[in-house]
Amino acid sequence: MTDDLPTRYRCTKCGNLTRFDVTETLRTRSFHHFTLGGDVQIEEVETLAHDIESVSCRWCGSGDGVVSEALADPV
Ligand SMILES: [Zn+2]
Repeated sequence: MTDDLPTRYRCTKCGNLTRFDVTETLRTRSFHHFTLGGDVQIEEVETLAHDIESVSCRWCGSGDGVVSEALADPV
């Protein structure tokens, strides 16, 4: 399993950096810890699979110009 590196999206068509529609599939396993009263606390969430299917720009409505780029290390 690979850890997701921090990335951001950029629309090269309109310059949008902040608004995207992301379609993704996330498969997880987690520990559901119930109280006798029925309240649940979800712990130990493990990501088994994470697929990003598509990313489209919220501003121009197209995914054609959207690129993913690594965030610079915060110094
Ligand atoms: Zn755009």
